[in-house]
Amino acid sequence: MDMLNDPALVAFREEVRAFLATYLPDDIRRSAARATSVFIDPDVSLPWQRILHEKGWAAPDWPAEHGGPGWSEIERYIFAAECARAGAPSLAPMGLKMVAPVIMHYGSPEQRAHYLPRILSGEDYWCQGFSEPGAGSDLAALQLRAVPDGSDYILNGSKIWTTHAHFANRMFALVRTSNEGKPQAGISFLLLDMATPGLTVEPIRTLAGDHEFNQVFFDDVRVPQANRLGGENEGWSVAKHLLTFERGGKYAPGLIGRLEGLRARGNLDPVLRSRLDREAVTLQALQALELKAMRGVGGSPALFASALKILGTETAQRIDTLACDIIGHAAWADADGQTPADLAVAVPRYLNDRAATIYAGSNEIQRDLIARTMLG
Ligand SMILES: Cc1cc2nc3c(=O)[nH]c(=O)nc-3n(C[C@H](O)[C@H](O)[C@H](O)COP(=O)(O)OP(=O)(O)OC[C@H]3O[C@@H](n4cnc5c(N)ncnc54)[C@H](O)[C@@H]3O)c2cc1C
Repeated sequence: MDMLNDPALVAFREEVRAFLATYLPDDIRRSAARATSVFIDPDVSLPWQRILHEKGWAAPDWPAEHGGPGWSEIERYIFAAECARAGAPSLAPMGLKMVAPVIMHYGSPEQRAHYLPRILSGEDYWCQGFSEPGAGSDLAALQLRAVPDGSDYILNGSKIWTTHAHFANRMFALVRTSNEGKPQAGISFLLLDMATPGLTVEPIRTLAGDHEFNQVFFDDVRVPQANRLGGENEGWSVAKHLLTFERGGKYAPGLIGRLEGLRARGNLDPVLRSRLDREAVTLQALQALELKAMRGVGGSPALFASALKILGTETAQRIDTLACDIIGHAAWADADGQTPADLAVAVPRYLNDRAATIYAGSNEIQRDLIARTMLG
């Protein structure tokens, strides 16, 4: 892309490359390459976050006043691309990318001063308590009840599919504080401590057998009302703000890195090579669209977020299939009865990535949002 070849940006890219070459430890890089889960476990991601934090680069998207590096959109894109190229693990998004922007926007000065530095340093590890057994796509149907009691709320109910709740010490949650009016009108947004009595975390296994998400049960869990973000019954606006950050990802850099890795294996069957070339072209188009979204050209951010989520996740799933085919084909050619180590990574990754078109709002729902915005 021409705009990425501006001399100042080339110098920036070199600076990032040099940093990664020196400071990304081999053991972290190797663990990231072996990771099969959707989100990388904190024993791999947090040590890397601490290294980045020391450099002031843990939160590229944050404004400088809160501890971000003060980069432009395009510099952030280059940084993400270089991290993917170097094989750095992605950092957990729940704190840095999801709850932090809403704390900046809706939080009181005390909440900002308390939470933001702890998110940046990795001292607090967050999970997202939105979905419930009866509320996924129809999130406003959520029923986890929060009843005022003195200066607290008392919470009863459950959350499900809560990624990394078994690692987290903090949760941001949507709770029902009223049944009056529209379902969206009775929801509040709370920040809570996972060590609060009455809160229990039960594992759910993924298709590949990993423990990544959970069901979380609330049995008379007491949460101070001071831990609410935004007004009572105004949590839906906070959640909508947050979901834009959850969806608005940079998919192309990581996927380009994966495709390059597959191409580097060499000796590809012509049919597989042509599929690889086709995905490479798709990724060029995706990257162009991501750069366009970053510059704020040609559509609302919410529309871009939905479109990029669909394109990014569906391309990722095709690349997962291609990876299994390429690695499987090579393994078949020199079969010795052993499952090759890279196939043992590619297959669970393929299975776990089936979830990508479901989480952060399923792709059917994203298509619905686009249709409603564009067709009225
Ligand atoms: C790996 C993974 C991690 C997750 N992590 C978290 C987390 O940390 N925290 C959290 O709160 N949640 C999390 N989720 C939950 C996720 O947000 C929900 O799975 C998602 O919102 C879909 O809800 P559901 O599973 O209840 O499916 P449903 O809403 O029951 O949908 C079932 C199917 O029906 C389709 N459908 C539903 N409504 C419509 C419609 N109106 N039009 C067209 N099609 C429709 C959907 O697209 C889907 O295919 C995670 C999910 C996964 C898979």
